[in-house]
Amino acid sequence: MKHYDYILVGGGLFNGVVAREAGKQGKTCLVVEKRDALGGNIMCRDVEGILVHEYGAHIFHTGNEEVWQYVTSLAEFNHYINCPVANYHGETYNLPFNMNTFSKMWGITFPAEAKEIIESQKQKVEGEPSNLEEQAVSLVGTDIYEKLIKGYTEKQWGRDCKDLPASIIKRIPVRYIYDNNYFNDPHQGIPKEGYNKLIERLYDGCDVMLSTDYLEKREELEAMGDKVIYTGTIDSYYGYCFGKLAYRSLRFEHELLEEENHQGVAVMNYTDRETPYTRKIEHKHFAFGKQEKTVVTKEYPAEWEDGMEPYYPVNDEKNNRLFEKYRELSRKEEKVLFGGRLGEYKYYDMDKVIESALRFTKDTLNL
Ligand code: FAD
Repeated sequence: MKHYDYILVGGGLFNGVVAREAGKQGKTCLVVEKRDALGGNIMCRDVEGILVHEYGAHIFHTGNEEVWQYVTSLAEFNHYINCPVANYHGETYNLPFNMNTFSKMWGITFPAEAKEIIESQKQKVEGEPSNLEEQAVSLVGTDIYEKLIKGYTEKQWGRDCKDLPASIIKRIPVRYIYDNNYFNDPHQGIPKEGYNKLIERLYDGCDVMLSTDYLEKREELEAMGDKVIYTGTIDSYYGYCFGKLAYRSLRFEHELLEEENHQGVAVMNYTDRETPYTRKIEHKHFAFGKQEKTVVTKEYPAEWEDGMEPYYPVNDEKNNRLFEKYRELSRKEEKVLFGGRLGEYKYYDMDKVIESALRFTKDTLNL
């Protein structure tokens, strides 16, 4: 039986970087992935020439020069800039909140006018805001809250804003300039040939075992390598011995439409409470696609249950404490190391996961 330097559990971005760095040093890797394709959550599916972001829309953005050099040495990026649009009962507004939003909402032109309206609407809350609604209104006033924050947030959390803690929203960025670029980072874009090509290049030279759950063949697979880099959920690795970590999940509904251009923008947020989904993604616009058809995906927030994809860790006090118990256990491992968003129970954007994997390969694997 072939023996490897590393058994990489999970074929996402984190292990992709490990695979590439290991390969550069002549180390051998076997990737074990339970899905039927590599890529983790950045994997795309080709539908009629349109790359569909199967596990949620992914826009690469970073302020880290090393990470930008790293990804652009592997893939050419296009000039996509994320400028989402909010849809409130058919009224559309630019996001993030900026002069285009305010101009449309109040028919004004100048920043001083917008500031005056927002200030006049910020209701003075006695003492500290006691819930999310009070917090949001104290930051941006009633109109922005009612039309662009309330319904969206309530759908996301499945609860009334008055029943949500104020701490969920610490600040709400407001721009008094005409600028619809959602991200502040200097670098942004989508790989021209898609994320799958990037993943292919990262894992180039590795042996790959797809549709295999590592935990079901743990002993056999562990014996095949010197070290195991595990990027699945840490609680599942330990058989949930302290209990289950909580996640927020999403349900995606993909649809192929017989029209060339459905919504004119890649990302549309539905900010009213009545529309059951929070976002609609039209994938071709990430790549300036000219296909005759189009694919749209509706995103529905969902409570996470066993068997569902764990998308966002719920990093509240209770779950962080639980995670610490698992982390304590993991520190005793000699052969198995944990990484990535599921192994570390931490929300990572793509650039941050690359940064973390590069640090891991240097500091922990000494590559
Ligand atoms: P993953 O991509 O989750 O990879 C882990 C892999 O391990 C998965 O393929 C899983 O199937 C596999 N696995 C788990 N358990 C086992 C097992 N027992 N055996 C075998 N395989 C196993 N970042 C951005 O920068 N921009 C964005 O716009 C953006 N949008 C996002 C939207 C959504 C809905 C989500 C959830 C995340 C988004 N991200 C975005 C974050 C991005 O997805 C992550 O940074 C990145 O994918 C994390 O890579 P990873 O390798 O840590 O984890």
